[in-house]
Amino acid sequence: MSKFWSERTKCLQPYVPGEQPKLTNLVKLNTNENPFPPSPMVLTAMRQAVNDELCLYPDPNADKLKQTIADYYGLHKQQVFVGNGSDEVLAQAFAAFFQGKQQLLLPDISYSFYPVYCQLYDVEACCVPLNENFAIDPADYCHARAGVIFPNPNAPTGCILSLMQIEQILQANPDCVVLVDEAYIDFGGESSVKLIDDYPNLLVVQTLSKSRSLAGMRIGLAMGHVDLIEGLERVKNSFNSYPLDRVAQASAVAAFMDDDYFRFTCAKVIENRIWLTEQLQRLKFEVLPSRANFVFVRHDRKQAAQIAAFLRLHGVVVRHFLQDRISNFLRISVGTEEQQQRLIAVLEEMLTQ
Ligand SMILES: *Cc1c(COP(=O)(O)O)cnc(C)c1O
Repeated sequence: MSKFWSERTKCLQPYVPGEQPKLTNLVKLNTNENPFPPSPMVLTAMRQAVNDELCLYPDPNADKLKQTIADYYGLHKQQVFVGNGSDEVLAQAFAAFFQGKQQLLLPDISYSFYPVYCQLYDVEACCVPLNENFAIDPADYCHARAGVIFPNPNAPTGCILSLMQIEQILQANPDCVVLVDEAYIDFGGESSVKLIDDYPNLLVVQTLSKSRSLAGMRIGLAMGHVDLIEGLERVKNSFNSYPLDRVAQASAVAAFMDDDYFRFTCAKVIENRIWLTEQLQRLKFEVLPSRANFVFVRHDRKQAAQIAAFLRLHGVVVRHFLQDRISNFLRISVGTEEQQQRLIAVLEEMLTQ
């Protein structure tokens, strides 16, 4: 606390990201990064972008990237917004659509950045409990006043809503923005992007951090009706005109061009998730049905905190949330085959003690 802080700064309770350990050779399964490297085409494009032109500002509108994304999803360029990671895109969406409003509906168990933005932008959050299966019930998301926000698949549960269920939420809230955070959609879900032309209140947010192996580059995007995108642009151009640097823009374009690599690595993640789920069930873990690149699990005999501590001691990092209802769950990211084998070996050792 300092006398120099504004009243707002004094009240903030910032988001706490998962640990990024400095030790090498840890099996890092705590922050849902992709276990596979970026596409070789992406790395080549980035190397080519490291040149004398770095003395010039990047394209403030990232036109080439927006056009690439628009072509990829069959949208117009004016329906696409990009930013420095989807966390930033989410912040701008809060500023553009929710700021100062009452009753933003969001699941009680969800991405813990949302309540932080509520505080930053004076939004009154209204937490809706997940049902007994830890799933979102669309019937609970009617008549919001500020808007609705949820990840699909949800994080940290991994559970997914169908497009029909999402339409139910969109139809029940024609007068406010329904923001679907699709950070994990590429690991086996169906994107709401195809609903954009039918619902002017739909904003779909995605990231290149998970399914496109570029967490280190910080690239996020939003897609929706041109009027929503224009609102985001107004906020962005009142804050930072150049959120994506030259290298980031080049890498993102290449990431959408190399679709074969993208499909191959997503399929591999799904295959590894199935193996991981089977192994954990064999060891008597309950595994919630996941369409993401992580699984959310609990054990019938061992406490989550105890398991996490044992794993950490043996060089495996997973995520444990100290939150009501889920304090006995662990979130484990899907890894490479070798990483997952090490995880299972350590768990076997613990459970036979
Ligand atoms: C990882 C994640 C993000 C953040 O993605 P960045 O683009 O890396 O900022 C957003 N939403 C959810 C639900 C996430 O899990």
